[in-house]
Amino acid sequence: NVRVRFAPSPTGPLHIGGVRTALFNYLFAKKHHGTFVLRIEDTDQNRYVEGAEKYIVDALNWCGMPYDEGPTSTALSTDSKNETFGPYRQSERKHLYKQYADELIASGNAYYAFDTAETLDFHRKDHEAKGKTFIYNWHNRLKLSNSLSLSAEEVKAKLNAGDAYVIRFKSPQDETLHLIDSIRGDIKIDTNILDDKVLFKSDGMPTYHLANIVDDHLMEITHVIRGEEWLPSLALHYQLYKAFGWDAPEFAHLPLILKPTGKGKLSKRDGDKLGFPVFPLEWKDPKSNDISRGYKEDGYFPEAMVNFLAFLGWNPGTEQEIFNLDELIEAFDLSRVNKSGARFDPDKIKWFNHYYMQTQNDDVLAELFKPIVDEKLNATSSTSTSLSTGSVERSHQDEISPSSRNDIALVVGLIKERATFISDFWNLSHFFFIAPKAYDEKASKKAFKEGTKELMLELVSIINTVEDFSVENLQTKIKGWITDNDIGFGKVMMPLRLALVGALQGPDVFDIMYMIGKKESIKRIEAAIA
Ligand code: GLU
Repeated sequence: NVRVRFAPSPTGPLHIGGVRTALFNYLFAKKHHGTFVLRIEDTDQNRYVEGAEKYIVDALNWCGMPYDEGPTSTALSTDSKNETFGPYRQSERKHLYKQYADELIASGNAYYAFDTAETLDFHRKDHEAKGKTFIYNWHNRLKLSNSLSLSAEEVKAKLNAGDAYVIRFKSPQDETLHLIDSIRGDIKIDTNILDDKVLFKSDGMPTYHLANIVDDHLMEITHVIRGEEWLPSLALHYQLYKAFGWDAPEFAHLPLILKPTGKGKLSKRDGDKLGFPVFPLEWKDPKSNDISRGYKEDGYFPEAMVNFLAFLGWNPGTEQEIFNLDELIEAFDLSRVNKSGARFDPDKIKWFNHYYMQTQNDDVLAELFKPIVDEKLNATSSTSTSLSTGSVERSHQDEISPSSRNDIALVVGLIKERATFISDFWNLSHFFFIAPKAYDEKASKKAFKEGTKELMLELVSIINTVEDFSVENLQTKIKGWITDNDIGFGKVMMPLRLALVGALQGPDVFDIMYMIGKKESIKRIEAAIA
């Protein structure tokens, strides 16, 4: 029974790397009909940031990957959440950890250390001055103040006196550890390079290492999938499992995410500098009130984000690039995750967004676009095309009604193939709602020539004869008139488009005429030649 966990520390918003880790855990869990656990690692109270946990949950939900088990108070629905392994916030599990630290002391795998920050600092600097690195391990242990260098009485006296202490892991001398990572294969580590990591502090809190291993064990986690930055901790984690006599889960460390240039690790600053978001949702820092941009607010669809993130380190081994969440679950395999860093390409997620734009229902897009239309029309309130109360059914004679979601959906259907974001819609469609106030100068020179005025007047009379104002009828009548009289398409279509749009762009002119209606079409042509 596969059980994986996403174990963020609530120290701020979830960045892209964190969401990618969550996604790979989610995909692996679902692929194996397992359980996706969210555990909040908040043992470091100094780094705790208000609102970060809610942000994490909101971000998972927005991406469409809700957790199966996790802190319930902020969960979307609580009824199906399994509570056997909870609580899921480490701050609520505080009472659990000390006994495990004690167990390691009793078995000789850990010890008390009483060194002050000043002492440690002194040794560090002293080593540095000699060009060496200070490692708190078998080599230096006996020169320092800890239960391996002091007598039992001295240790007891210090503890009784309430001296500040930490509990350190006793890493072995001259051993070679064999670690296995599902992505990187076998890793050999010489224990002499390891230091005696702190497991527990006298403030009663475990460090990340102890809490993480104890919780993974108690929560029966079978696979640990996390970022490469945790690879250096793997040796300690392996030893902790061994010291406790527990079976270790399988480990998989996901590759680094690299800057768009491919050089160096992606950071928040790259996004700020190059103008792309690095967080899924907008984040307002509770201390500084600074706002960091989010993909959601920037107009990205969660499907695009998920599809994009899946390819940051994984590939299906085929040419296929488009995967929805279900297809990803089906195709995902840890053996197809790369060791080498994955370059972050902000243009690629735009490409995905454009793709997913085409798959959205026009009604849904219209719903998102309508507030923008309303706002723009309010701002320019003077001359909108028509504000008839929006009937759901559109008759061919009707003029476009910006208040009708149905009409907006029809417009969206005509322009979305050129859009990456909803925010592109207005530039691509304003002429459906507002008559042009000016005409593109260069285009005017090209389109309005001698004889254009007469042609347009004739065109108006043709349009007037179109009873049933449908795209097909307009097309047949107007194209028929052009060919029958050998006029040449450009001579009519260019000025016509300019009259309707104000520039030589936009979708099919017949679609535009149909949408704005007969009266408005004629009005615009007449205005253009006036
Ligand atoms: N709390 C750690 C983090 O913030 C978890 C690392 C792990 O998955 O072991 O990423």
